[in-house]
Amino acid sequence: MGERVFVREVGLRDGLQLVKRMLPADRKLEWCRSAVEAGVPEIEVTSFVPAKVVPQFADAEEVAKGALALGGNFTAAALVPNSKGAERALALGLPKINYVLSASEEHNLANVRRTTDESIKDFANIVALRNSSAAGRTRLAGGIATAFGCTIQGVVSEKRVVEIAARLAELGADEIIVADTVGYAHPNQVRRIFKAILRAVAPLPVAAHFHDTYGMGLANVREAVRLGVRTVDAATGGLGGCPFAPGAAGNVATEDVVYMLHGLGFETGIDLDGIRAATRFCRDELGVVPTSRVFAAMAKA
Ligand SMILES: [Zn+2]
Repeated sequence: MGERVFVREVGLRDGLQLVKRMLPADRKLEWCRSAVEAGVPEIEVTSFVPAKVVPQFADAEEVAKGALALGGNFTAAALVPNSKGAERALALGLPKINYVLSASEEHNLANVRRTTDESIKDFANIVALRNSSAAGRTRLAGGIATAFGCTIQGVVSEKRVVEIAARLAELGADEIIVADTVGYAHPNQVRRIFKAILRAVAPLPVAAHFHDTYGMGLANVREAVRLGVRTVDAATGGLGGCPFAPGAAGNVATEDVVYMLHGLGFETGIDLDGIRAATRFCRDELGVVPTSRVFAAMAKA
């Protein structure tokens, strides 16, 4: 059996933030259930942001509770942009919190109305909250958005990205997520940044999060995995985007990533037919056209 790569589903969070059609909590949980049945080991089920910022997540508590009640062998995670969100997630006893800040000052200001340094400081508060939480040991990931460039600011300093990763590790992150929020990355850049971060935060696991704006998504996943990254974010059907990153395309598609990894000899524990069923569900429920090439090819076969 090949080495394991953890492919995490982020469609319920990343994919939904731009979709106009509001998906009711029970339908979100149905999607979640189909991903669990397909064998997805971790799902970012929602985002604890103010409902007025992203109305799609007004039901965050209900969805998180429902996901925890689903059972099955998967980790229910949620994204939080600040300590307020972390308090809500910890109150529910979620096993995993993905905190995210932007390496781009301008993106961070647009997204959470504070500087990147202020967001780094808030991560220290979240670690303290987690450590004193009755919920026990919730795993805490430190995510760096716009790590490869930004639609608002343009270039993002690679040195700064590596510094932020090292700082989050030092403050107590259990994992570092490096995200190409807008889909600007190319494989050489992936090699430089991931190499430096893997070295700076070792032995912490580092996860890769790519969007496919320029069609480089799979090539970037391939490069990250080649460097030793063993956790990759993806969204059913290739959904995704960012409300503060105009023009950004969806995440790499879960079925495309799984197809490639299996071809490379890795094991994911994910059943491709199961993911196709989840993609069909999204297509029908959300009225969006999946961008996954594997989905399209398998439909024709
Ligand atoms: Zn994203």
